[in-house]
Amino acid sequence: MSSIKIYHFMPDKLNLYGDIGNIIALKQRAKWRNINVEVVDITETDDLSLDECDIFFIGGGSDREQSLATEQLKKIKTQLKNAIEDGMPTLTICGGYQFLGSEYVTPDGTRLEGLNILNIFTESKKERLIGDIVIESETFGQIVGFENHGGRTYHEYPTLGKVVDGYGNNDTDKREGIHYKNLLGTYLHGPILPKNHEITDYLLKQACIRKGIAFEPEKLDNTVEEAAKQAIIKRLLKAK
Ligand code: GLN
Repeated sequence: MSSIKIYHFMPDKLNLYGDIGNIIALKQRAKWRNINVEVVDITETDDLSLDECDIFFIGGGSDREQSLATEQLKKIKTQLKNAIEDGMPTLTICGGYQFLGSEYVTPDGTRLEGLNILNIFTESKKERLIGDIVIESETFGQIVGFENHGGRTYHEYPTLGKVVDGYGNNDTDKREGIHYKNLLGTYLHGPILPKNHEITDYLLKQACIRKGIAFEPEKLDNTVEEAAKQAIIKRLLKAK
């Protein structure tokens, strides 16, 4: 049986709004294709190698958890940057997404240093951006989720898509997330993957391609997932 490894970074600290559901979705959709998934929980990064990592996942966290996690991530910064440049499928949520940039400025003006892996900048305000969100993506079609963040993120990379309803990266440019090589960063919790099977399959497919494993997207019937997504979109857009 084919097998892939998901490295789950600091699951004990970074699991806001059910982000662990992303791991469950990846495991289940891989299992339905007879691909075995081993989840490796990463709590410390001393001597960590990413050589065997097929998908890297970082969930969201509060400002406190975020700074603790940054200390661990700093130790593998170069490896992580190289792996992202090399096309390692990576999913980072909210605080996990903010980490990748140069800095995170808290509402009181404190400047927390980020990993500086990408040219992303985040400043946070007391007034939070909260609610359900609908995005239109050229790659993934319609995306739905839930967001709750003080951070406003700015960058010039390709994004996950255009915000149809909600906030996204910040409260001005109506763009959500980042899609750089096979790195996806997003403010969507909820969690994002069980609600958006296209993104789950994208990550699995890229992991399989890199590992030389056959991947059959057409093998699954997504009728239930599609109906659930359309019901959410209908409810949200009707409520306006
Ligand atoms: N501390 C960040 C913010 O509020 C991240 C929160 C989160 O991961 N939901 O912007």
